Amino acid sequence: MRLVIGHLYPDLFHLYSDRGNVCCLQKRLQWRGIEAEVTPILFGERIDFAGMDILCWGGASDRGQEMAAGHLPKIRQDFRAYVEDGGVVLAICAAYQLLGRYYRTEKKKVEGLGVLDICTEWRPGRLVGNIVLESPLFTAPVVGFENHAGRTEIGEYTPLGNVLFGHGNMGRGDYEGLVYKNVIATYLHGPLLPKNPQICDVLLKRALKRRYGREISLDPLPDEEEYRANRQIAERYTRSSV
Ligand code: GLN
Repeated sequence: MRLVIGHLYPDLFHLYSDRGNVCCLQKRLQWRGIEAEVTPILFGERIDFAGMDILCWGGASDRGQEMAAGHLPKIRQDFRAYVEDGGVVLAICAAYQLLGRYYRTEKKKVEGLGVLDICTEWRPGRLVGNIVLESPLFTAPVVGFENHAGRTEIGEYTPLGNVLFGHGNMGRGDYEGLVYKNVIATYLHGPLLPKNPQICDVLLKRALKRRYGREISLDPLPDEEEYRANRQIAERYTRSSV
């Protein structure tokens, strides 16, 4: 078995070690004896959507997003088709915003891909810091680090989780991120997946199922240290917030 992980725009969208998500997906496949090919797709390069199993897209500054804007209409249709067909996507922060209809920065309106019917508005006062969620999708808490000025209204979409500590989509401390089909979009850097191996395995399982047309169970990995770290972060912040 083999999966292809497309690392989108590592030359422009590379904040806060989001590259670690790509390494995590690749290693957790290889540790289970599954081949994992990482294809970096530089900004402006063609994306072979049919050959992709997982697209991993990280964060960027407002400037990076503004630079990317001109190129997005060229991939809009194929990106939408990939998502509607169950293609797996992990979109972090700036990428989360650009999957939506637009991100209005302090200076400009950046048209997004419109893969998701959401909008993001810049507001003064960055939302920065550690964040802890509880999510019905996962038994362990979801932990990460957020740093965004954009506020994202997700309407009727299912959030990734409820905020136990931190700001979240709108800075209200209620919901964070969203899940749509096989897309997980979130403000959580960290990088997200090494800090939350359960999310990594959900993405891998969904990609394997789509590629091979059946449920494929993943061998358990010795994740005790990862979960100890996860628990410690969650406890540290949720305890200090009460
Ligand atoms: N530029 C966006 C914002 O500030 C996204 C930042 C990020 O990717 N961390 O909201």
